[in-house]
Amino acid sequence: MELFHGPTLAFKDVALQFLGNLFEEILKNNDIRLNILGATSGDTGSAAIHGVRGKERINIFMLHPKGKVSPIQEKQMTTVLDKNVFNVAVEGTFDDAQSIVKQIFNDLEFRDKYHLGAVNSINWARVMAQIVYYFYAAFRFREKYPSTEIVFSVPTGNFGDIYAGYLAKKMGLPIKRLILATNENDILYRVLETGEYKISSVKSTLSPSMDIQIASNFERYVFDITGQKGEVVAQKMKTLAETGKFDLTAEEHNATKSVFLPVRVNTKETLETIRKYKVKGVLLDPHTAVGVAAAEKSGFSQVIALSTAHPAKFSEAVVNAIGEEPSYPESLIGILDKECKCETVKNNYIDVEKLIEAKFL
Ligand SMILES: *Cc1c(COP(=O)(O)O)cnc(C)c1O
Repeated sequence: MELFHGPTLAFKDVALQFLGNLFEEILKNNDIRLNILGATSGDTGSAAIHGVRGKERINIFMLHPKGKVSPIQEKQMTTVLDKNVFNVAVEGTFDDAQSIVKQIFNDLEFRDKYHLGAVNSINWARVMAQIVYYFYAAFRFREKYPSTEIVFSVPTGNFGDIYAGYLAKKMGLPIKRLILATNENDILYRVLETGEYKISSVKSTLSPSMDIQIASNFERYVFDITGQKGEVVAQKMKTLAETGKFDLTAEEHNATKSVFLPVRVNTKETLETIRKYKVKGVLLDPHTAVGVAAAEKSGFSQVIALSTAHPAKFSEAVVNAIGEEPSYPESLIGILDKECKCETVKNNYIDVEKLIEAKFL
């Protein structure tokens, strides 16, 4: 299921294109404005910018670590010249940019004065929009295969995409299993195998959008399987913060295993899968390849694999696998030479607040 035909060539566009319009409508009805503030390592930021560009009642201030985002992803953000889009390059790391955003959100007076909002991966409207394509795909699949069980394979990082699949199932869609495909950053694989959610260090892989350790939407799932008991979740999260891990009870663990099938895919398997499917006439990006490889290892004979990015967005991995460049879609041709707009700031939240103030008036 190719979900990467939006403006930034990744599945996040599906939800963020919807979100921009939803926000604009609500803001108009309430006659208010919104300033979106976020930090990005490339992915979500560019999809968010493309979701709200040109909107009348929204400004977006997107921070990225200067020089530390892939050149294509940087240009996908900075070549958006609309007057409501402000790219901010922070002299620091992604964590520095993220910490500036947190500091500004904690400056409550400032936050309220400038109507600051976020669009990160726990944004409910994003999750909600993603539920739709599970239904759509299941209906199309059933037209072709009326009696085959419905299984999805989802390349997973923050647990947002697959959580939408879980919700589709809860809403009544007869999904047999959700294959939870991870790369070497396998915290979710391990919690499914052992019942223990335990943080380890982040490794960089060919599928960088899945290189995470804390899967922010998983907390939301834990809320569901603990019978929606906030205190129980709070206790687990406290244990996580203090000790770097928490346990699911046997009951919670079994409930989780009945819905999700965890499959871990390494770099070698990812490259082999890209190669193998190229021969079959389909070029996969490395994230999608993790999902497809997981589907093959799962033992199910028919699986709907979610394809989360265009191969040209991760051309280095593709070249590594097949020895040739993928063909580039129109939106990427010549992008590295286009005019761009971006301001550089020191690693300091006061400077970012000043910039927001200056642009807001
Ligand atoms: C964000 C992303 C993922 C992971 O999705 P989650 O909702 O974080 O699990 C997978 N592939 C690509 C290309 C992405 O951009």
